[in-house]
Amino acid sequence: MAGQGKTFKIVTYGCQMNQRDSEMMADLLQAAGYEPVDDEAEAGLIILDTCCVREKAENKVYGKLGQIEKFKSANPDLVIAVAGCMVQQPGAAERIRQQAPYVDLLLGTHNLAELPRLIEEVRKMRRPVVAVQGGEGPVVENLPRRRARGAQAFVTITYGCNNFCTYCIVPYVRGRERSRRPEDILKEIEDLVDQGVIEVTLLGQNVNSYGRDLENKVTFADLLTMVNAVAGLKRIRYVTSHPRDFTTELVETISRLEKVCEHVHLPVQAGSNRILELMHRGYTREQYLELVTNLRRHIPGIGLTTDLIVGFPGETEEDFQETLDLVAKVEFDNAFTFMFSPRKGTVAAGLPGQLPQEVKKERLKRLMELQNKISLAKNEALVGEVVEVLVEGPSKTDPSKLSGRTRTNKLVIFPGDAELTGRLVNVRLTKAQTWLLKGEISRA
Ligand code: SF4
Repeated sequence: MAGQGKTFKIVTYGCQMNQRDSEMMADLLQAAGYEPVDDEAEAGLIILDTCCVREKAENKVYGKLGQIEKFKSANPDLVIAVAGCMVQQPGAAERIRQQAPYVDLLLGTHNLAELPRLIEEVRKMRRPVVAVQGGEGPVVENLPRRRARGAQAFVTITYGCNNFCTYCIVPYVRGRERSRRPEDILKEIEDLVDQGVIEVTLLGQNVNSYGRDLENKVTFADLLTMVNAVAGLKRIRYVTSHPRDFTTELVETISRLEKVCEHVHLPVQAGSNRILELMHRGYTREQYLELVTNLRRHIPGIGLTTDLIVGFPGETEEDFQETLDLVAKVEFDNAFTFMFSPRKGTVAAGLPGQLPQEVKKERLKRLMELQNKISLAKNEALVGEVVEVLVEGPSKTDPSKLSGRTRTNKLVIFPGDAELTGRLVNVRLTKAQTWLLKGEISRA
């Protein structure tokens, strides 16, 4: 095998889609005989799986490339690859080649399946290779999938996005939406369950529009119903949901499928209709609030999380107050808050009314203060309850304890034996913090 005796390390930036892409690349490499290593310094192949949604992520990649360059000086056989969304942007491959000429392989998001062959090409030809296909890549099935990593797995259901939110680069780098066929998704999940997986997270930029492009029309609600019927599977999660496409049929389906977890990540982005329109989000604050009411009516106790952007071009203090007001009304369990950062090639980057950094920072601070208060209050209200937790392993912050997540996606830390990793346990919640809950295993 081509990779026999060779090692690799993948460094992943960005979202769960990228995490899944990195897993896929690792599976391909291992099927070709490569061995993963933890330490970049020991790897014969280093892949940076990049994100371009925020400028910060790109800067991190260049910083990392600078660090890796010294390994190349010590080991000229080292192959350095940059893959993922950043590479997919127009002109990006040239920029990377200029700034980091020691990079051997540039690999677009649609070319990942060719990875082992391209590495061999780099090694044989002893010259850099660029493989970046634009537009829509094919939906490639039957790629090797290594044994599952523990009890949880990501499963991609759609690639790309059709929405063109004005601040977002994703449709340009990942192409238009393509859905995988339900039979391929189900086969993958059944295989994962055979290997001990009990929780799957279905991935897509907009899972709610799943299936619209398929010949045999299947909705996301249909797909969830099929996945719910997979024997041995215990939990189903899904990200990301687009509020515009979250139908009442879907709300009702989710409420009756026992394996679908009571958590929705529902990015609202802004609370002002004027800004939502400028963002091209396709819903109003009133429609969003109605959807939240509908979800809470059908699924009591549901965990709701969101994404919010402050300082979008033209955002006035009044617009921002509407965002604060919406956050106070909804009372999200948690929110990922960002300052608007213009991405070259998007509509929003060219909009008038770009705000000074200080204004964005100050608004972000106010928003975070409000959300942190709400998150803490919501967690405090849960103290005393016994909840089902899927144990993920030793806690990252306190390795003497275990950590895991409730069905509502709350992080819980509690004492317990590491052998419980991958199992469902009942935990009594004893203490609340803003970002997590503490507890103890309940024998009752
Ligand atoms: S829904 Fe909007 S924000 Fe999400 S990936 Fe598509 S264009 Fe980007």
